[in-house]
Amino acid sequence: MRVLTPTNVEEAVAMLAVEEDLIPMAGGTDLLVHWPEHLEARERGYLDLSGVESLRGMEWSDAFLTLGALTTYWEVVTDARVGREFRLMVEAARQVGAIQIQSRGTWAGNIANGSPAADGVPVLMAYGAEVELASAGGGARWVAMDSYYTDYKQSVKRPDELITRVRVPRAEYEIEVWEKVGSRRAQAISKVGLAITKGDEGWRVVAASMAPTIRRCAAIEKLLTKEAAINRPEDLLKAIGKDVSPIDDLRSTAAYRELTMARVVYHALKGRVSFVT
Ligand SMILES: Cc1cc2nc3c(=O)[nH]c(=O)nc-3n(C[C@H](O)[C@H](O)[C@H](O)COP(=O)(O)OP(=O)(O)OC[C@H]3O[C@@H](n4cnc5c(N)ncnc54)[C@H](O)[C@@H]3O)c2cc1C
Repeated sequence: MRVLTPTNVEEAVAMLAVEEDLIPMAGGTDLLVHWPEHLEARERGYLDLSGVESLRGMEWSDAFLTLGALTTYWEVVTDARVGREFRLMVEAARQVGAIQIQSRGTWAGNIANGSPAADGVPVLMAYGAEVELASAGGGARWVAMDSYYTDYKQSVKRPDELITRVRVPRAEYEIEVWEKVGSRRAQAISKVGLAITKGDEGWRVVAASMAPTIRRCAAIEKLLTKEAAINRPEDLLKAIGKDVSPIDDLRSTAAYRELTMARVVYHALKGRVSFVT
């Protein structure tokens, strides 16, 4: 196993520019699970980010909460201010694995891994977060989370780019919902994940485990914006059919996922907005 150990971002992106198939490693909680079976990965080098101090920690400005790429779930869980302003981040972080995974696993790793069942990504998307992608020569760009994924485990990130920061706009929300439906309460991969927010910029409804990528649900957002009467979960099924395309797999069936998503959205909003009764 060959491991490169940069100490700053410039060094890290310069290493990636020279050798684009280097595998960045943050907490290693996704990467090392697959280590025994991914024989081809043993030939590739690893870019260990743990020595890049500037990627650690969180910063507050008037407009944003910014997470460094090495920020873990546990740092979020234990930060009272994040709990006050971005409640769903704490709720989602608490649902990721158990404390061992929460202590090592990073938000950036969750994004880069690209799993459609990820728990961190939906809340970041529902809060309108953006990801910073840095490359050699000082290049960096911000990409909105809701346009980051292009297909199953595919994203707009180029192989020579590193996720360096994630920024979450500070805003007031009247509605914030996070729900994860799994086979059990802890240590489960979601069958259906949902993050919903309503703030000054309107509704954001984000579904996990319902499509090849985590995605916003434009048809449901439209229904909610129109304040169309929703009197039972089934009233949401047509919009859900337009927004997502779940599969039958070992965790669940597509039909179960769609009905569950309808029920979760309905019960999360019933009585909280006048048109969901
Ligand atoms: C027992 C167990 C339970 C788990 N439970 C959950 C769960 O409930 N919910 C959930 O969402 N996930 C879960 N996971 C998956 C995993 O813990 C998370 O996805 C975690 O956020 C990954 O972060 P990491 O820092 O460990 O990533 P790593 O394993 O280090 O990397 C993951 C991927 O991201 C890439 N990467 C990492 N950092 C960067 C960067 N800065 N720039 C570019 N690419 C980067 C890596 O190359 C790799 O492809 C679980 C894992 C285990 C082992």
